[in-house]
Amino acid sequence: MLTYEDIQNDLIVTINDNVLNELERVSLESYPNETGGFLVGKYLSNTQALVECLVHPTGKKCGPCSFERSTKGMKDIWDNLYDSGLIYLGEWHTHPNGSCNYSNTDLEAMRSIVSSEYVHIAHPLLLIASPNKYKIQNINVYYCDSNQLVKLICKNGTCRA
Ligand SMILES: [Zn+2]
Repeated sequence: MLTYEDIQNDLIVTINDNVLNELERVSLESYPNETGGFLVGKYLSNTQALVECLVHPTGKKCGPCSFERSTKGMKDIWDNLYDSGLIYLGEWHTHPNGSCNYSNTDLEAMRSIVSSEYVHIAHPLLLIASPNKYKIQNINVYYCDSNQLVKLICKNGTCRA
C-alpha cells in the first residue's frame, strides 16, 4: 500500500496493493511502450481518496513516448462501477525508462479532462509510473487544482510497495 499526501490542501491518496501489482503487470507487459488507463475507487471523506482498482480503456495507442486512450463505449462500465460504489478518480500512464514528471502533453490532457463532461470530481488524479524491463522504479502522483498539477508526497519511504 502506498500513501501520498499534500499537507497544504489536506489530500491523502491511498493506493491498494492489488492496484500496484496490476499496474506493474500491465506496465511490464507493454514495455518498452507506454501504457495506462483509469484510476478507480472512492472518496472516504472530502480529503481522503482510496484507489481500489484500475480500469482499462476500451482502446489505446501505445508508443515508446506516447499514450492515448479511448473512452468510447465506457458508459456502461462507469455505470456499473458507480452501482458498486466506485467512481473515476483519475488517470495513469507509464514513462518507460523515463522520469515520473509530467510532460506538457500530460498537463494539457489533464486540463481537458477537468473540463470534460464525464468527469464529476473537482481534482482528478494523475499517476505516472516509470518501469524498466523488470519492475516499476518509481511512481509520482499529482492532482489537478486550478488547472495546475500539484505533486503529492509519498509517505512510505522508497515509494515502492
Ligand atoms: Zn506522460
